Amino acid sequence: MPGIYLDHQATTPVDPRVVEAMLPFMTQRFANAHANTYRSATDALRAIEDARRKFASTVCARSKDVIFTSGATEANNIAIQGIAAAASKHRRRIVTQTTEHRSVLETVASLSRHGFEAIAVNVHRDGLVNLEELSRVVDDRTLLVSVMLVNNETGVIQPLRTISEICKRTGTLVHSDCAQAMGKVPIDVEAFQLDLASFSAHKAYGPKGVGALYVRNLRRAPIRPICFGGGQEGGIRPGTLPVPLCVGMGTAAVIAKLEQSASIQRAADLEFKLWRGIQRVFPGARINGHPKFRAPGCLSIRFPGHQSDALIDAWEGIEVAKGSACDATTTQSSHVLRSMRLT
Ligand code: PMP
Repeated sequence: MPGIYLDHQATTPVDPRVVEAMLPFMTQRFANAHANTYRSATDALRAIEDARRKFASTVCARSKDVIFTSGATEANNIAIQGIAAAASKHRRRIVTQTTEHRSVLETVASLSRHGFEAIAVNVHRDGLVNLEELSRVVDDRTLLVSVMLVNNETGVIQPLRTISEICKRTGTLVHSDCAQAMGKVPIDVEAFQLDLASFSAHKAYGPKGVGALYVRNLRRAPIRPICFGGGQEGGIRPGTLPVPLCVGMGTAAVIAKLEQSASIQRAADLEFKLWRGIQRVFPGARINGHPKFRAPGCLSIRFPGHQSDALIDAWEGIEVAKGSACDATTTQSSHVLRSMRLT
């Protein structure tokens, strides 16, 4: 019997409509979009630009400010390392917060070995970033602040607009890892006043292996490539673009946006039902994360007096996680929950 899959935070299945849009670009329309002397290549390039336009419109960005990447991990690395590579010697502080994904935390930490001051601001017990602490470390020596929109374990939604307002006062750039936000919360890079934002298709019924990076005014932005090659994607992310994956990402983003309100409502209803059922069996269970500022359909629950491994073993066939799939190589408990002062 197939299991009951409850880990859409780790990844989602690909929507059949997305598969349908991708298929022709694997078999018949297979040309390299960067070969510009024949028609099948320009056809592939047109498909890429169409996908870029579609994706960009769903996050309120200009398509010329969007580059395709292999996913949010790469987008986070290019954003943070690329901005650091172009930094002046007067702005050497990079700030993030403790519940970020490892692709942000470790990238920021690695820059401390290259003359930067790396700071991870604490969160409150509800998972929201401590804004007072953040304000104290944002000044005219701060290069970049990186705070995610939706947390991948708890679903906690950070107040990006307020964070950007704090940063703009000192000319500090703002990056946000929005990998978990597509289809779950409205995304508007303008309203959030973001300078950079990372996305991933496979969290929103798109294919694995493709993502995007938004860079405000890409052509004039203070960012350098961290990888070198054929100059594709404005030279910031060189390499042959995977046409089917880009087409898949554009299609998934449009579907996510079109169906957003219905799917948010459905997720909220399912979450309510599940949580009510769980409370009946485990009256002591508690939700981790802010009760209100949380993406619907994302439940992080603690069961006082129970070991997570024992519960997961007992719930045979129900596929749930006890932490991020991206932390699978560590045996430690979740750094997100520990940051929220949980054990
Ligand atoms: N950031 C967050 C918040 C994520 O949840 C993930 C995926 N677990 C990533 C980044 C990495 O995304 P990708 O798998 O596209 O590299």
